Amino acid sequence: MNQRYLEEMANLLVFHKILARQSDLSKENLEEKIMRFQEKEDLLIDGVVGPETRWALHFPWVMQAPKHLFVRCEADVIEGIDGFDSIVLREDAAKNYRMLRNEVQDQGGVITSAGGRRHLSVGAGTHRSAKSMHYTGLAFDLSVTSGFFKPQTDPFVITKGDEAHWNVWCRAQGGQDLELSAIYWEHWNSGEDLKKTVAGKFINFTKLCITNGFHPIGPRAAFRRSSDRKYLSSEWWHFQANDLLVPKLSQFGIELLKIDGYTPASIQAENRNIWGNRKATFKVDWS
Ligand SMILES: [Zn+2]
Repeated sequence: MNQRYLEEMANLLVFHKILARQSDLSKENLEEKIMRFQEKEDLLIDGVVGPETRWALHFPWVMQAPKHLFVRCEADVIEGIDGFDSIVLREDAAKNYRMLRNEVQDQGGVITSAGGRRHLSVGAGTHRSAKSMHYTGLAFDLSVTSGFFKPQTDPFVITKGDEAHWNVWCRAQGGQDLELSAIYWEHWNSGEDLKKTVAGKFINFTKLCITNGFHPIGPRAAFRRSSDRKYLSSEWWHFQANDLLVPKLSQFGIELLKIDGYTPASIQAENRNIWGNRKATFKVDWS
């Protein structure tokens, strides 16, 4: 439990009139206050912040909170590479994205796009999770063909990261002179990790994303397995605004309900699976 968690929890407990003021909450009295809240809400009194307690804390709050809009942000289209000229994000994530893009552009780099926000009507599939961060407008994808196949010329070169699974490097005139050990595949279905040393000017795109609040994820199981590996599960292109979420507290459905026009009824009507996942919690069963 970090400071951010305590602050956010204190906000919610003030909203529910369990606390008089935010500063009344501490690590020491949290369990006691949670039990007060559970008693008031007719929940099992165990002092544990589980999915039902989190939902009961969040739901009445989010229904009266100011709404976020979706915002269309510019992205770069590169000749010969599939991609969109924009990325739609929730407005708080869009603000971070614009700072990121300014820094990338200042150094002569590009940001390609395979999209951001996903419409609720889009169902889950082989490569799409029913609680994808894309539904909330808090994630963007670089064009999936703007790296990983031609490290000599692609706008992005991918290396194996230490902390993050992937490190993504952006070719840029204003970047550092580097020699990268690029990981690549021969083609979409080749399934074999190859390495090639690539020299040039690069910016550390992953690092720049992280300083602007966007974090990478690792590959999904269908990429990691030993045979019939699926390129679309590699996820090197995916970055999400983790800094806008509080680990073990933020919930998928609440992040959706922060969006202008998204109501419990409209989400259920568009996609029952998504509503079924509404209590999924960041860094517990939603990442
Ligand atoms: Zn993605």
